Amino acid sequence: MLSTIISGAVYGVQSHLIQVEVDVSQGLPCFQIVGLPGSEVREARERVKVALKNVGVKLPPMCINVNLSPADLPKNGTMFDLPVAVGMMAALGKLKKEETEGILLLGELGLSGELKPVKGVLPIAREAAARGIRKCLLPVENAWEAGLIQDMESVGAASVQEAVALLQGKERGTTEGLQGKAQGEEDEEFLDFADINGQPVLKRAAEVAAAGFHNLLIIGAPGSGKTMLARRIPSILPPLSLEESMEVSTIYSICGLLQSAGSLKTTRPFLHPHHTITGRALAGGGRIPMPGVISLAHRGVLFLDELPEFKRETLDILRQPLEDRQVQIARSSGSQCYPADFMLVGAMNPCPCGFYPDRDRCRCTPYEVKRYLSRVSGPILDRMDICVEALPMGFSEITAKEKGESSAAVRERVMAARQIQESRFEGTRLRFNADMGPGEVERYCRLGKGELRYMERMFSSMQLSARAYHRILKVARTIADLAGGGRIEEIHLAEAICYRQSDRKFWQ
Ligand SMILES: [Zn+2]
Repeated sequence: MLSTIISGAVYGVQSHLIQVEVDVSQGLPCFQIVGLPGSEVREARERVKVALKNVGVKLPPMCINVNLSPADLPKNGTMFDLPVAVGMMAALGKLKKEETEGILLLGELGLSGELKPVKGVLPIAREAAARGIRKCLLPVENAWEAGLIQDMESVGAASVQEAVALLQGKERGTTEGLQGKAQGEEDEEFLDFADINGQPVLKRAAEVAAAGFHNLLIIGAPGSGKTMLARRIPSILPPLSLEESMEVSTIYSICGLLQSAGSLKTTRPFLHPHHTITGRALAGGGRIPMPGVISLAHRGVLFLDELPEFKRETLDILRQPLEDRQVQIARSSGSQCYPADFMLVGAMNPCPCGFYPDRDRCRCTPYEVKRYLSRVSGPILDRMDICVEALPMGFSEITAKEKGESSAAVRERVMAARQIQESRFEGTRLRFNADMGPGEVERYCRLGKGELRYMERMFSSMQLSARAYHRILKVARTIADLAGGGRIEEIHLAEAICYRQSDRKFWQ
């Protein structure tokens, strides 16, 4: 007898429904899976056979053929265990056709028949819902993920027996607690801007960067508060919109990281990899391509502390994603594209000892300083819209009693600027000022006569490149947005130019 079960698989951040067809017929006993199965999928045979035996389902000595359709898509992962097991039960006549019809099944089996969570449930359930499927049966740990999808009834089962009983209607699944936490209930304690004493220039630069989603480079001596500030940037970024939240949660679901969160990701991710990170961990990859750190930082912040300590090749990997806002991973098993639209925040000492240009304290030779700085390549430096110096704190700043402004207050201004950008870019692919290309800069950052003359002077005196000129205009646009969204004035341009002085000071 033949049975068909609906399941699904993830390709990049897209997902496809997969039909699991199981045929059991007379003949020499065999058990094979076809339809481009990867090694984990082929191993499903052993897991399913033993699991069914251990829960008391006797498999007659017959010829069992499983086809995963469409047959031209490669199948990886362990999510087909449950559909194959249920398909066999149906093919053996232990389940009626209507009991398995129109239900999405996913889940890994343990040898004792228990169901284990799988990766990528959120995007697969979303695809299923778009194809008109209204019910799914999943491992208990995954059930809430599918429950986040509108019009999808998600039922969790702890074992294959329970799954079968649920399909037969003999048991009612627990839907309690499957909703996950509601939006905005994610337990993430933010560090607050109020903890930072002094450093008004640094805080302002962070605010401008957050408002326009600009990349930010902070240079300064050890202990000047670079890291402290960077860690607090997520607290002033606007919260994720529902659509962005889905995008980010999809990536976390594919990596199997959503289960521990227990809800959709509602706060912007903050990733701070150590400088020993490999290029593959950063960009993503593996035999079966998986998203890397830059994709986990999608719509959030990628913070690289001690920037020159990162290997040159590792940093160079960032160049393409910083331009394209996505990363392409090519493998023999196929090429995958993952989103990687992050805000890059870098922090670094100005020299190996950290005190350059303070010649009283810095013990480095000019050659050492030069070599240290040159580890941050021009192309990466070029993509930093804002470059700011963290000056050593004075005694009065360190001991100041009164608290600085809170993150909530800063965020309010950032949100107002964000709203201005939202209405400006309505109907386009752009979200923030930082996303503008040269053509869009021309369109949205038009200067008046006086401002144009001012920029002309600056252009020749600072010997700006076209790229640097555009970056100044984009940052000036954000500064003007923070000031209410009017036209760009000279004072906004002057501040934006200030953010280009530090890199010139050190690198030229
Ligand atoms: Zn030094």
